[in-house]
Amino acid sequence: MTAQYAKDYVAFSYRVQPKTEIKDSDVVFVGYGIVAPEKGWNDYAGLDVKGKTVVVLVNDPDWQTPETKGEFNGRAMTYYGRWSYKYEEAARQGAAAVLIVHDTEPAAYGWNVVESSNTGPNYLAESTDGGAKETVANGWIQLPKAKELFASAGQDFDKLRDAAKVKGFKPVALTGVKANFGFDNVIAKKLSRNVIGVLPGAKRPDEYVLYTGHWDHLGRCTPVAGDDICNGAVDNASGIAGLVTLAQAFKTPGAPDRSVVFLAVTAEESGLLGSKFYAENPVFPLAQTVGGVNMDALNAIGPAKDIVVVGGGKSELDAYVAKLAKLEGRTVKQEPTPEKGFYYRSDHFSFAKLGVPMFNFGSGDELVEGGVEAGKKAAEDYEKNRYHAPGDEYEAITNWDGMMSDLRLYYAAGRMLAMTDAWPNWVEGDEFRAARDKSRAGK
Ligand SMILES: [Zn+2]
Repeated sequence: MTAQYAKDYVAFSYRVQPKTEIKDSDVVFVGYGIVAPEKGWNDYAGLDVKGKTVVVLVNDPDWQTPETKGEFNGRAMTYYGRWSYKYEEAARQGAAAVLIVHDTEPAAYGWNVVESSNTGPNYLAESTDGGAKETVANGWIQLPKAKELFASAGQDFDKLRDAAKVKGFKPVALTGVKANFGFDNVIAKKLSRNVIGVLPGAKRPDEYVLYTGHWDHLGRCTPVAGDDICNGAVDNASGIAGLVTLAQAFKTPGAPDRSVVFLAVTAEESGLLGSKFYAENPVFPLAQTVGGVNMDALNAIGPAKDIVVVGGGKSELDAYVAKLAKLEGRTVKQEPTPEKGFYYRSDHFSFAKLGVPMFNFGSGDELVEGGVEAGKKAAEDYEKNRYHAPGDEYEAITNWDGMMSDLRLYYAAGRMLAMTDAWPNWVEGDEFRAARDKSRAGK
């Protein structure tokens, strides 16, 4: 069987080397490719995948459950469901290559997104080992091609996909199938910077509360009406303006008990690279970082009656959100589409993954003026006409009151964390709890 690049599959390498080559590698289907000790789940149990190519399913085993309860939070996506996790786990297991089977519903986006985001340049943070711990090749394969691949080994894809949803699933070798990859890589190095400021705490300066926002945007982009500058006024000049405003607001009344760190990260739009780099090479130890607030694209559509919590139910920070909402007379709502895994798509995730609990909440779509209808309309308009487009301009922000309301809450959230001696953790069974327990125990 041959597969056509971009049409049937995409593949690339996280290793910094001019040539990628894999010859006659055995192919194994590893179900969802998940190793979750806290759930007693191991799709790689008893399997040595060194030098092999693993084929994995996107999302996590209970994604079709209508509720958000279950071993993997039902239809809400867990980190185990994200493509980046599949690559990381395969690399930890020592696999030569990993291919994710694309399926629009569980992926939450079509093949067009996979194709467009994987066939251009890929940005990676520089590593000291040149990516030696990564798999040799990563990629995606279209669903019909995957079915063909399984059939060529005498296996029924649909049957194995069902089997993979059940705990205790055993990986299946695609006997007789060998994978070959070969492509050249063009490597270029670029420099960018994170910018950081700290307000030392008055009582416990070695404990830190973190505010983050990304300062990068897209630069030149596809022109609309002759304008090819993507300014990123909302995404994320608004977040950076918020960061500076909060720094001033913290300084005026005097430092709180704990230190407050204001971090503007680079290259969020290229895959959360600046925040990932900081989290892996922190200026202030993560074990001493209590938690924080990430600001990415603040409310530019007017004050809302509600607050939407992204990734709600994951950490003890939820209790703070409930208190905060009251300060502005707003109600708390859970995110409407947890299956899209938004919690894993901005900078707070880089910290969550290494155990630091991070707030992620903002205005919902129930506006003070015009209610849900007006909010939905404004959100759709942003998505269609401004998001990652030249139309995301300063002039398009016509109402600042919602942003101010959210910022007052972000201030209060940070102030609360900076004045308590509590160490909020992830809830029992959450995928990030083990990382936090380990980091706090080893400090
Ligand atoms: Zn953004």
